[in-house]
This record gives sequence, structure tokens and C-alpha cells, in this order.
Amino acid sequence: MSSKKTTKFIPQEIGSNLTISDAESKGLTHLEQEYRLLFESLDRDANGLISINELLQIFRDIGIRNDDPRLVLDFDSTLPTGDTLDAKENDYPLNFEQFKVILQQSQGNLVKNAIQGNLIVPDFKNFRAAIKRIYEKAKANKGGHVATYIPQLGRVNPEYFGVSICTIDGQRFSLGDYIIPFCVQSICKPINYCIALEEHGEHKVHQHIGREPSGIGFNGLVLNSKGLPHNPMINAGAIMACSLVKPTLDMADRFDYVLDTWTKLSGNIRAGFNNAVYLSERQTADRNFALGYFMRENKAFPESTNLIDTLEFYFQCCSIDVTAEAMAITAATLANAGICPTTGTRVLQPNTVKNCLSLMASCGMYDFSGEFAFTIGLPAKSGVAGGLMVVIPNLMGICIWSPRLDELGNSVRGIEFCKELVSTFNFHNFDSLTGGQSQKQDPRLHRNQSKIDSVISLCWAASEGDVLEVQHLVARGINFNEADYDGRTAMHLAASEGHTKVIEFLLSKGAIPNPKDRWGNTPLDDALRGNHQSVILLLEN
Ligand code: GLN
Repeated sequence: MSSKKTTKFIPQEIGSNLTISDAESKGLTHLEQEYRLLFESLDRDANGLISINELLQIFRDIGIRNDDPRLVLDFDSTLPTGDTLDAKENDYPLNFEQFKVILQQSQGNLVKNAIQGNLIVPDFKNFRAAIKRIYEKAKANKGGHVATYIPQLGRVNPEYFGVSICTIDGQRFSLGDYIIPFCVQSICKPINYCIALEEHGEHKVHQHIGREPSGIGFNGLVLNSKGLPHNPMINAGAIMACSLVKPTLDMADRFDYVLDTWTKLSGNIRAGFNNAVYLSERQTADRNFALGYFMRENKAFPESTNLIDTLEFYFQCCSIDVTAEAMAITAATLANAGICPTTGTRVLQPNTVKNCLSLMASCGMYDFSGEFAFTIGLPAKSGVAGGLMVVIPNLMGICIWSPRLDELGNSVRGIEFCKELVSTFNFHNFDSLTGGQSQKQDPRLHRNQSKIDSVISLCWAASEGDVLEVQHLVARGINFNEADYDGRTAMHLAASEGHTKVIEFLLSKGAIPNPKDRWGNTPLDDALRGNHQSVILLLEN
């Protein structure tokens, strides 16, 4: 866990029930005004105090955990923080000055954005409910078998099922066995590839590894026409990537470096190591040794590579242990172009992440990669311990862990979860092309955003007399009788401004001629007020 600064608050008698116009007249800075607005939105009885529990609940509702490293919430050493906080017993009034310290000390406008609902998934409550439904559905699937090539994987409880999600704003949601560590196995491949890219750059790395799907199993004994492994997401390429990770350091430091990278990628949740898995991997590694010798015979390795060290290092990386919760944050760091959402730290360069996601999208799912790209359309990487790391660029990272695998080595529930996910949400890479015709939800939008956008566009076009734009919007299927907050429709606005052509057009499409706004006025009332004769004539008929 990260270390958190502690702020000791001394309660003061500072009221805050200022309106913005008061604030302006008192010459408050823009920032101060903004703080006041946020405070007042929470100060229901305008008594200059807000409830800590309410604030914490706002964070939790939008998916920001109370132990989020970006938040500074230690109001008082006597106040417990975190999800276990007992709302009623420990409530504590917070005045404006105290609230301001939380705003100022917390990282990256997080508090402000959470209060304003300005995080990437604004309606996190509904999103959570949908994910829970998908989880329950996938849980019923008992298909597949745990990996048995080493006893340590064969003994894992096949019923384990954890799902964790982290958005690029650090909104988190987890279900099931999300705090039980599992072995990353092949999911070490994209991370080691990233580390190699950061160290040597794309050109050098791809002098040793190709970037084409291989079309054969992940441990296939085959190289491309240049005698190089096909890509870094299969064993041969992953062994090669290992040879490029900090090759000048000694073995212990190389491993530490990889472990530290996992830790940073997952918001400082410390990655572990499963020694028994490592020992077993090493003992059953004939194929990986064969791949290593085959590549050495083809002079594929960088000069002065120690083959045995490289293979040992690869087995160690496969034996790194993480939780679904940590892996979801890692995936979110990739979704966020290399900046960890929960710490704000840049761990990888954007170009590195772009390269890695490109190869995850084409080669990340063993022999199911093409099928996965077609049906799911997201960069992902699976491992034989049942982990599946999915990245939705610019939106979120997801980890699904369920040990039963299908015949290709992918988690059965993991695949099922993804299928259900993309049939519910518009997450497939190319869903943007079918937007208009699709029933899929977009959690990125405010609940009524698309409706609000259309109403605003239509009313605006009507008040401008822009018949062409009105026609465009109607062609997109907008309901032209929809009203804004004040009950004003496109008919009202066109009538107020005397835009006869717009009125004609709307009436010809079947618009209601006499809707009432919140003051009881019809478009005819508006036309009479503006003395727009031709509109009056049209509407009176
Ligand atoms: N340790 C396994 C191997 O190298 C990892 C494979 C995997 O997850 N597909 O064979």
C-alpha cells in the first residue's frame, strides 16, 4: 500500500453559505469560488458544515475507494477511514476550510471531479450493476479444466472466480475472489515486452522478435523466415524478450526490476512470487529449453546472452503472483497510456503501450487471437493459471481470473465474461462504426447525455433557422417534440425567432403544433409576442 500523508484538522468556526454573486462581490479568486460551489452543493441545510460520511459515500458511489492513494482523507486520527467506516457512528462535520484542505491536498482534481460526477464512467452505480449481472452469468459456466502440466496449477480450486475493474480515472469495482493471488504465467509476456521496449526501443527489440501472429500453439517449436520468434506473446518471443530485460544486471536485480515494474503498474500493490510454481516450471521445461536452443542455433539472441539464465528468468517471470485487483490496475495503466490511474505515476511511455496493445490485440489469446479480435475486439492477454487481462484503451482495465481453461488454454469464464461484456457495452474496437444502430450501452456518457445533446442541437438549429441542420437531426431519428428543461421545443424556438421554413418543415414531419412550455406558452404565443406574421398564419391554420 502507498504511504498517505496525514492532515490533522482543527475545527474552526468558518461558515460557507456564500452564493457565487456574494463571492464575486467579495473579490474571491476563481478557484475559491469553485471550492465554494462544490462545498455548497454538499451543504444541504446551508449551515456551513458538510457530512464526512456523505463525502465518503460520494467517492464510493463513483468507484473511488476511500483508501485511494490520491485522496488525503485523514481528517483526524480518531476517524477511521476506508470502506469499513461506520457511517452513523463516526460522522463528523466538516467546515469549508477543512474541505478545502482535502481538495487541495488530494491529487489531480480527484475530489472536484468526483463531486461533479466528471469521471470517465459517471454513472458508476449502473455500470457496477451491469458488471455484476455479467459476473453471475459467467459464474454459472463450469466448463473447462484447470491446467495440469505442473501440480501447483492442477491443485488450484477450480471454482475460484475473481473480476476486477479499474477505470483510467481510478474508479474501481471488484467481485468474487479478487484478493487471492494467482500466477501471471503468460501475462508476464506483454509486461516484459514493454520493459524491453523502454530499454532498447522498438527497432532493437524487433531485430530479435517479429510481430506477426504465429498461427500455431503458444509453445510451438517454430521460428519465422528470419529465424526469429514470431511475436513476444508466445513462448519463444517471451524468452527472447527476457534476454533483453536489463541484461547487464545480475539475476536478482533483473528479477527485482520486473517485480518493481509490476508493482508500479498496479498502483503500488506489491507483486509476489510463487516459488513452488517456479521450481515446477523449471522441472517441466523441455519445450522451453528446446525453443531456447533452437533460437540460439539460429543466432536470434543478442550477443553474449546466457541462455540458461534467460530461461530461468523467464520461468521466474511466469511465477509472479498478483491479485485480480492488482492486475486490473495494471490493465488500467495500459488503458491510460502508461500512467497508473491510482497513483498518477507514469510507468511506461505511450509509444511502448501502443506497441504492446497492438500485439496483444493480434496475438494475445493463443490460437484464439483472431477469433477474439473478431468477436471481442479488445487487446487482451491470457495465462494458463486462468488469468485474463483486458484493456479498453482510454477507458478501463479489466482482470478476470478463473482457473478452468478451454482446449486452447484460455479461461472459459474469462472468455464468456468478455463476450457478455461486449454485447452489453460498446467496447469492441469497431463498435463506433455501428453506433447509431446498436442497442449497446456507452457507460462513458451521462445517463441522459445523448438525449440532452440531441435536444440542445435541435433547439439551437431551430432558433437559428437552420433548416438543413434540423433536417439532418430529424434524419438521425431525433424526436422533434422533445423539450428542454423549461419545456421549450424546437417549435417554440423557431416561432420566437420567426423562422417560418423551420416551422413548415417540422409541421410537415408531424410536429405537435401547440406544445406548452413551463410557463404555459405555445409557439403561437411566442410568434404573437415577436409579431412574426407568416409564422402566426401558419400556426393559426
Ligand atoms: N509457464 C508456461 C510456459 O512457459 C506459461 C505458458 C502460458 O501461460 N501459456 O509454458
